[in-house]
Formats: sequence, structure tokens, C-alpha cells
Amino acid sequence: MIFDNTYARLPSRFFQQISPVVVEKPSLIRINTPLAKELELPLPDNQIQLAELFAGNMLLDGMDPIAQAYAGHQFGHFVPKLGDGRAVLLGEILTSKDARFDIQLKGSGPTTFSRGGDGRSPLGPVIREYIVSEAMHALGIPTTRALAMVLTGEKVHRETELPGAILTRIARSFVRVGTFEFFAARQDVDGLKQLTDFVIQRLYPEALDTEIPAATLLALICDSQARLLAKWMSVGFIHGVMNTDNTALSGETIDYGPCAFMDHYDPAQVFSSIDHQGRYAYNQQPLIAQWNLGCLGGCLMPLFHADEDAATDIGETVLATFTPTFAHHYRTAMCAKIGLSKESDDGFAHVKRLLELMHQDHADFTETFRRLSGAVTETSSFAALFSTHPEIEHWLSDWHVLLGREPRSKESIIQSMRATNPAFIPRNHQVEKAIQAAETHGDFSKTHTLITLLDAPFSDQPKYAEYLLPPTPSEQVKQTFCGT
Ligand code: AMP
Ligand code: MG
Repeated sequence: MIFDNTYARLPSRFFQQISPVVVEKPSLIRINTPLAKELELPLPDNQIQLAELFAGNMLLDGMDPIAQAYAGHQFGHFVPKLGDGRAVLLGEILTSKDARFDIQLKGSGPTTFSRGGDGRSPLGPVIREYIVSEAMHALGIPTTRALAMVLTGEKVHRETELPGAILTRIARSFVRVGTFEFFAARQDVDGLKQLTDFVIQRLYPEALDTEIPAATLLALICDSQARLLAKWMSVGFIHGVMNTDNTALSGETIDYGPCAFMDHYDPAQVFSSIDHQGRYAYNQQPLIAQWNLGCLGGCLMPLFHADEDAATDIGETVLATFTPTFAHHYRTAMCAKIGLSKESDDGFAHVKRLLELMHQDHADFTETFRRLSGAVTETSSFAALFSTHPEIEHWLSDWHVLLGREPRSKESIIQSMRATNPAFIPRNHQVEKAIQAAETHGDFSKTHTLITLLDAPFSDQPKYAEYLLPPTPSEQVKQTFCGT
């Protein structure tokens, strides 16, 4: 492993060079050892130095910390200057396999982009991001990863005093749609060109030798967003704050502030306390992703063609690919959930009928799909999940007709369904309980348990059976908060 900090070699207006602020008394909560191995990080072998490193008190040779500049549309409104106000990019890791990763501290103190904030993070959001981002990874969904979390030994002041913490996270790149918007808003075409070259080299080298590399880049990003959104939708994930500054060009899920997995199926579900209009509701997410890509397309226009009309045509043609690409991946993923190896109009219509019954019945999204594989051979216990008996019986018998057309055995259908419908997701009420115990008693046992069991979301893990259950009415979490 070496550090090769290419972003820090871009012109100085791309970032602020900054050292993380030293914290008082850091202590390690958890380190993700398999990920550290994959990154080939030369880690100190004692807890004290590990805590110093992941608190930003100590740097590894070759790190060159910066805070990245970006802008963004937040809830549809443009903010020309955001940037890493509470994060520091320590450097770019280059592994012996030529894989490149950004390593970043989140909650490590103020930067020039802090806009009055303290640059710190309370413990709760750090635990939440660690648990949920690693769960997403185990579910096979592209995401930033959590490498470590430490307590700072300092208090942060929100409505009350809370323990402070820092998350170390990893991404293929932290460049966002909002990074392009930063330069476009300043009509800095040189900056846009350099950023485009950077992103192509780093994430989409296949765009290099094409006729209009910037247009190919947009097409590839549309494709990766479409795939990502299909995956979110297929597990009931609600991001909660799909602003353009939270749309990573790598196609990785980023920013776990107010995110949540839905329990009972409701297509209009919203959790975030600040999303008053339901802009980022579950069923709005694909449309919002497309809107965000439109913002990116607008920024790239000057690189498509010197003539504005021609540039607009190019951009619109590329952006129009999002909807059919998303539809293909979404339909494929949803058909797979009911055991169909290929998507089809029949199969997808059948998925939609099930979703309607689930909605009517307040059925739990994860539990319903997980238990469906049992109904390949025996339908009564699955049917008992529903109050609408004749309708679900009817659905099940039509489903068996569809399954009968599958060119594979019942066993292989069951196996594929169990590999696509998770048993375990980071349920909100469990995450909240883990955070509560850590915040109030310094007890991290629930946090560690959740991280462990969510590493194998498709296995039954009988000893964790209680974590399969949807929340009781009194446990139900109705709202989530950004937690900044
Ligand atoms: P985030 O919620 O981390 O995506 O941040 C969105 C914007 O708010 C970024 O410009 C951050 O720099 C800023 N921000 C959020 N929380 C803080 C904080 N505690 N201190 C400073 N800036 C913050
Ligand atoms: Mg953000």
C-alpha cells in the first residue's frame, strides 16, 4: 500500500489543505479488520495508537489531508458553497492490486467549509453510519465503507451534551455531483475539465477514448445510479436526503444521516424529520436520482459541444437512458425476489400485485419476501401472514403457475430466493437501541452484535432470531434525524 494523493495535486481552489484538529482523549470503539487488510493499511498494533490514528492525532507516512470543496442542491435549492465542513480526506490509498480508495475522517473538526458548525460529530450518527453502511455492503449494495470508529473523549454540544466520535470511512472516491456544481456555478470551465479528467481516470477509464468523453462519463454515471437505485428499492432502503452533494459519482451510497429501511411496506414512506413534503419518499427516489443526474448533465454541457443546442441534445439523449435502465434493473431485482430468473411483464405484474396486498395489510417488507421462499413448497404459513386470505391464496396459486415455467428445480428456486431476500436488515428500532445503550451507558455490546449479525444478512443465524422481527408498535421508529 502507498498513498498517492492525486486530488491534492489538483489546483488549490479544489480544496483546503488542513490537518485534522487534535482531540483530547481518543479511544477505539471498533476497527473493521477485514477492510483494513483489503486496503493493506500498515496499522499500529496497539489500541492507543490505533485510536490516535483514527482520531486524526497521528498521520501515516504519505497522508496529505485536505477538505474538498463542493456545492449542491439541497431539497431542490442550490447552495453554491458546501464542502467538507466536518470531514477531512486523509489521502488516497493505492493497493498492490492497483485499487484506489479515499480514506476520510468524519467529525474531525472545523474546516473553511464549516459555515459556523463545529465540525464535530456526536456518537449516535457515527454508530448509525458504521452499522448501516457495512450492512449495505454485506447486502451487495455499493456504498462507502466504515473502517473505524473512535470516541474523542470530548463532548459535543447539540440540544444536550453528547459524547463526540469520529468515523473513518472509505470510498472509491468522494467526488459528488455537487463537486461539478461548485465549478459550474463559478463558470470555471477549466476546473470542470480538470475534474472531468480526474473522474474519468479514477472511476470510468473506459470513457477515455470515446468521441465525447464527458458524454460517455455522464452515460456511465447514469448507468451506475440506475443500478444503485434498483438495489435500494429492492431492499426497502430510504436514503432520506438525496441532495446532489450526497450523490457520489462512483455509484456508491453516501451519507447515512436520516436513512432508514422500511418495516411495513408503504410506497410513500418518509422517515426524515426535515423532509416535510416527502421529496425523498421511498417511491420518489428513482425520479430524484434522475433529477440529480440532470444537474450533473447541466454542469457538463460546455464539454459536450461548443454549440449550446447541440450540447443540450447530447445531454438529453444521455439522460433519457436513465429511466429504461433503472426499469430493467428494478424489474429484474423484484422478479428475482419472487423466484423468477428473468424479468417479464407477467412476472413484474405479479410482483406489483403482491406489493399492493402488502401495502393493504401493512406487511413487513423484509419478512414477507424472506418467508416467501417457504411457500414454494408449502403455502399456508406464508398465507397466514396476511389478513386478506382469498386474495393471497389466489396470488400464491398464480405464482405457482409462473414458477412452473422456470427452467430449474424447486430447490434451486428456493436457494436463489434466499440469496436475494435478506433475513436481516439494520432495522431502525434495533439501531436506535444500540445507539441509546452506547450514548447513555457507554455500552457498545448491542452495536457490536448488530455489526456481526448484519455481516451475514442472508443466513438464518438462529441465535439472533429476535433481530428478524419487525418492531412492535411501541418500538416503531417513525422519524429519523440528520444528526449533524
Ligand atoms: P452533511 O450532513 O455531512 O452531508 O453536511 C452537509 C453540509 O453541512 C456540509 O457543508 C457540511 O460541511 C455541513 N455540516 C454539517 N454538519 C456540520 C458540523 N457539525 N460542522 C460543520 N459543518 C457541518
Ligand atoms: Mg452530506
